[in-house]
Amino acid sequence: MDKIIVGLKRVVDYNVRIRVKPDGSGVATEGLKMSVNPFDEIALEEALRIRERGEAREVVVVSIGPEDCQQQLRTGLAMGADRAVHVPHDGDLEPLAVARILLGLVTREAADLVILGKQAIDDDCSQTGQMLAALWDRPQATFASKLETSGTTARVTREVDAGLEVIEVDLPAVVTTDLRLNEPRYVKLPDIMKAKKKPIESVTIASLGVDPAPRLRTLHHEPPAPRQKGVMVKDVDQLMGTLRERGVLG
Ligand code: AMP
Repeated sequence: MDKIIVGLKRVVDYNVRIRVKPDGSGVATEGLKMSVNPFDEIALEEALRIRERGEAREVVVVSIGPEDCQQQLRTGLAMGADRAVHVPHDGDLEPLAVARILLGLVTREAADLVILGKQAIDDDCSQTGQMLAALWDRPQATFASKLETSGTTARVTREVDAGLEVIEVDLPAVVTTDLRLNEPRYVKLPDIMKAKKKPIESVTIASLGVDPAPRLRTLHHEPPAPRQKGVMVKDVDQLMGTLRERGVLG
């Protein structure tokens, strides 16, 4: 295969405890550590391994969002991506808009495989890959925990509720990654330095003919209720009694 495209979303780092803005209008992100969405790092790692096995020629990373997304693209280049494409956009972007933008890029690049995360850890939507496959009219293999490619097909082991499911899809296709697919490599300092000098291509949303306006309106954000303190019980009898007292058991 020739080309793999990987989506890298800039998200608040998974170690950071996020806070809802006091007026409930959203999540406060100012000054917080931002990172590549963890599932997207897995996506890039998998793409690099496919290329390193000689089964693909080029890996292109794409990020849609504010200027600062270039930091995440540089991480992608430092990991080993061949090229980076930034699609600038300030403000909210819904999965449908991201999928339409990716469709424009994927068509333009004539990609053979698109690997995305199974979900972005900020919005937890888990929609973009599925929407892209539908818009592109190509197969999708979501929640991948193993990915084997041959020239024209991909064999994907999927993590489903009942266990594992193995499917084969024709390429081009969209694959989304689950946690167990691989463990991404560490980025080495010399590679970070080298990545700083690599060019990042900028493609406007307008040139792709996409209207990025949100279709949904979020009315209010609220933090989850604080967790109640736990109770220690001596034995199973006391546990059953406590559960009965609280009406959990009949
Ligand atoms: P979501 O549907 O929002 O949970 O996102 C699923 C996946 O789509 C992410 O793991 C990314 O691979 C990709 N994606 C979503 N938003 C973006 C973005 N703004 N830029 C690049 N890739 C994205």
